[in-house]
Amino acid sequence: MLVLREVTVRFGALAAVDRVSLSVEEGERRALIGPNGAGKSTVFAAVAGALRPVSGRIEFAGRDVTKLSEPRRARLGIGRTFQHSSLFTGLTCLENVALAVRARRGLGLRAWLPRGRRAEIEREAAGHLAATDVSPDGPAGALSHGQGRRLELAMALAARPRLLLLDEPAAGMSAAESAELASMLRALPPELTVMIVEHDLDLVFAVASRVTALAAGQVIADGTPAQVRASPEVQKAYLGT
Ligand code: ADP
Ligand code: MG
Repeated sequence: MLVLREVTVRFGALAAVDRVSLSVEEGERRALIGPNGAGKSTVFAAVAGALRPVSGRIEFAGRDVTKLSEPRRARLGIGRTFQHSSLFTGLTCLENVALAVRARRGLGLRAWLPRGRRAEIEREAAGHLAATDVSPDGPAGALSHGQGRRLELAMALAARPRLLLLDEPAAGMSAAESAELASMLRALPPELTVMIVEHDLDLVFAVASRVTALAAGQVIADGTPAQVRASPEVQKAYLGT
């Protein structure tokens, strides 16, 4: 589904991502772990097309996407969670997700639609909300932090991605919210490929089938959760021992 070949992304003199190669199968749940500044978010930005590598190649679903823009990659099926700022706090959760469904279908946000069409869009939106366990009614602005993050996930799912990039989805969540998120992520459609950057290693090991560890822009370990956890390089990067 996704192949990175020797991808390097620079910020001036800094190689934030340094010759990273990795390969993710369709339906995989891949975690990207590593200390702060390791280059995890930069890898996601390069995959989504928000940052352009100075060298290397990115293939998605068998196609070279290295030079494609972010919107074109989104249309091919590379999705990311929206930021909080993209929630319309005065609209209901259902209305927020319905807007994301409209956007995917290339419909104007305010374009008039016949009632049957609107009902169909709302049914789809309600399905995404059910998958992320968010109540459709009530303003998005009134949600708890954990519910807000799940609403963002519902909006990302409304884009019907084939590859979903989740950058620290549990950030700021309580332990209970994080556990709920883990079971929700496990319930996502099996054909959806998910990459997750997360500091909460309990969540990582509950969700990921395979883990790639980065440090200082480079891959230091790649394998099953147990293999990566046991890697001396990973223990050194995390514990400084
Ligand atoms: P992570 O997500 O693993 O914490 P990042 O990918 O955000 O790490 O950052 C990798 C490195 O690149 C860090 O040293 C960070 O300071 C640097 N960096 C990230 N974004 C920028 C930017 N826009 N401009 C300059 N340096 C950046
Ligand atoms: Mg980051």
